Amino acid sequence: MSEMDRRAILAAPVFGKVFTDHMITLRWDAEQGWHDGRLEAFQDIALPPSASVFHYGQEIFEGMKAYRQPGGSIALFRPERNAARFNASARRLAMPELPVETFVRAVELLVQQERHWVPGGDGTSLYLRPFMIATEPTLGFTLPSRSYLFGVIACPASAYFSTRTGPPALTVWLSEEYARAAPGGTGAAKAGGNYAAAFLAQREAVEQGCDQVVWLDAVEHTWVEEMGGMNLCFVQQSTDGGSPTLMTPELTGTLLPGVTRDSLLQLAGRLGLGRSEGRINVQQWRKQCEAGVITEVFACGTAAVIAPVGHVRGANDEWTIGDGRPGPVTLRLRDELLGIQYGRIPDDLGWTR
Ligand code: PMP
Repeated sequence: MSEMDRRAILAAPVFGKVFTDHMITLRWDAEQGWHDGRLEAFQDIALPPSASVFHYGQEIFEGMKAYRQPGGSIALFRPERNAARFNASARRLAMPELPVETFVRAVELLVQQERHWVPGGDGTSLYLRPFMIATEPTLGFTLPSRSYLFGVIACPASAYFSTRTGPPALTVWLSEEYARAAPGGTGAAKAGGNYAAAFLAQREAVEQGCDQVVWLDAVEHTWVEEMGGMNLCFVQQSTDGGSPTLMTPELTGTLLPGVTRDSLLQLAGRLGLGRSEGRINVQQWRKQCEAGVITEVFACGTAAVIAPVGHVRGANDEWTIGDGRPGPVTLRLRDELLGIQYGRIPDDLGWTR
């Protein structure tokens, strides 16, 4: 790619379409363990059609970002959390774990190599996609694959939402027919299959004029879990005039433990908000909005950072949260998180690297 083309892409990156020049690969088999690590040109991966991943979907991935800092240096945000979640996903999918240091080193190596691909514009970043696939050429499915490929690829990303006008409020669709994850299933893992199974409901949401799906629990179809690629947070006012509380559904094993979710819970405490990991069902959500107890709701994740939720729609129900626009707690938390990620406010929590 010419220097001019690269500059044009960096000026207005479209998420997930253009990838940088290099990638990391690392292989695993039962005899050698992890071996053959490479930083090489971004290229096709050749696999026999019998490779296990094509048939049984044994695949996991991560999503993280590198952020341009004020002095020109580049920072990762809590990469060891992504490494730990990658290993939790690997355990659930019966895949080999990768030492945390190897995962972080692989990501750092790629970022160093591709430093000229990290955009500098407001809200932009280099999105990093570590992944692992099962490569054993076998249709046998009584035991997991005996060989795997780990890789890291990268693509420049623009702000999901304009940072000047702030994020617009989302309209979300309550998926009452489909379920994302059942108790004992793979909901807490970042496994490709979870996302494949979500496309149908996401398409339904778009057909209903909504932006995103809200997943409910698979047993009673009423307890709020998370969104397709983001966790959900509720701002609840206290009845005795104290600080509001940031409430997010507890990690029951059926939702993904987001790095952003965890970071915001910690930041909320520092900002003097109450914090709670609890349960809320659809009826309570609606009633608490009507009663003015829930004044703000937002979705949070690496890609979207914080996306306010303005309206909720289901097959038989529809309501607005607050005045339907981003609220003050949402915007305050967003400023705080972005400030740390982009090095604008001191990171005394040691989150950036
Ligand atoms: N839930 C799901 C299903 C996701 O895919 C993501 C994105 N990784 C999240 C929540 C948010 O996680 P994080 O804050 O680590 O990006």
